[in-house]
Amino acid sequence: MARVDLDGNAIKPMTICMIGAGGFIGSHLCEKLMSETPHTVLAVDVYNDKIKHLLEPDSLPWSGRIQFHRLNIKNDSRLEGLIKCSDLTINLAAICTPADYNTRPLDTIYSNFIDALPVVKYCSENNKRLIHFSTCEVYGKTIGSFLPKDSPLRQDPAYYILKEDTSPCIFGSVEKQRWSYACAKQLIERLIYAEGAENGLEFTIVRPFNWIGPRMDFIPGIDGPSEGVPRVLACFSNNLLRREPLKLVDGGESQRTFIYIKDAIEAVLLMIENPARASGHIFNVGNPNNEVTVRQLAEMMTQVYSKVSGEDAIETPTIDVSSKEFYGEGYDDSDKRIPDMTIINKQLGWNPKTSLWDLLESTLTYQHRTYAEAIKQAIAKPSAN
Ligand code: NAD
Ligand code: UDP
Repeated sequence: MARVDLDGNAIKPMTICMIGAGGFIGSHLCEKLMSETPHTVLAVDVYNDKIKHLLEPDSLPWSGRIQFHRLNIKNDSRLEGLIKCSDLTINLAAICTPADYNTRPLDTIYSNFIDALPVVKYCSENNKRLIHFSTCEVYGKTIGSFLPKDSPLRQDPAYYILKEDTSPCIFGSVEKQRWSYACAKQLIERLIYAEGAENGLEFTIVRPFNWIGPRMDFIPGIDGPSEGVPRVLACFSNNLLRREPLKLVDGGESQRTFIYIKDAIEAVLLMIENPARASGHIFNVGNPNNEVTVRQLAEMMTQVYSKVSGEDAIETPTIDVSSKEFYGEGYDDSDKRIPDMTIINKQLGWNPKTSLWDLLESTLTYQHRTYAEAIKQAIAKPSAN
């Protein structure tokens, strides 16, 4: 049966230039596009470890529909040619781990703003559609976080729900270099929006709210640097695998809403295949029903990991650590992130499905299966690593 879009029109096969295709989100998006659609992907990245299973061998049903181009978009003249011969460009490339924002602010700003400029320019000049990945972090802190602790207004959604077209972007001072990422992402959003308004660029901006699942980041000392600090899912997975306490930064009081990567990818596919409904919009993509404090996340991950590994939790499952000790000078945090879903619901009829418990169960099953043996060996023979 022919595949149709949300308005009942047949979907034509397209060629997609996906920049950052070798990362966490890119790998899941490539998998989805290969297994469920007829589209072709020109996968651009400096690494391909997370999509190797899609590239080899030649006998795979989609071979010929995905090509890997190893290039750094900072300095490679092949980029424009790839964008020109595609119908759509999706830009995922970024430095996007909070441990880098205050310690490598220049790399962070260059990666999230300067390096994205040619991509926007080539799309605009060649009349190509662009789906650009921004972040929920552009909202910064909630208005409610500035109210007195005991103010009843803190319970009023008007003071914390994050809405694409009305919420302000509230960052800390320039000394708080944590905000270098959010600020660079905000400026590239504004530039893309202006290209749309002044030059007719056909764009969609995605603001992911803590998408998590298999293949996110790396496990320090196994498939990433021993001293590296990935995002919270990988930090806590690493602690659980090594039977160490999970570290709660500044008490673990910050709140997040986590969404299963597979639910989020459904939303991106709807954007890809429904340009008339997606173009010109900024979309929050998150799961407002999965809100927890970081402390609650640690407790739930500890319980789920016990279930999937069959090992009892350690005696002291969590410890407190200051942000200065964990991330260094210049760290700051978003207090609370609940996405408003009105726009994505209206335009694409999309809703997330998976509960936090269920998404942690499938993700930690993957982490245990993928890393438990390697961790055991690394602990037994530390010098080999
Ligand atoms: P990721 O780090 O796993 O993927 C990014 C990929 O881009 C990596 O494979 C990296 O090698 C590649 N890349 C970076 N610079 C490049 C360059 N100069 N040339 C070529 N390739 C380059 O991150 P992710 O979680 O998949 O995130 C993808 C996008 O979504 C990013 O823009 C990020 O800011 C945004 N985002 C993600 C989340 C989330 O929850 N995962 C949340 C907010 C925003
Ligand atoms: N965090 C933590 N312990 C860790 C790693 C992260 O308490 O080992 C906290 C971090 O301070 C933040 C939250 O977990 O409040 C989410 O961090 P993440 O790096 O996933 O990214 P963010 O949501 O801040 O962009």
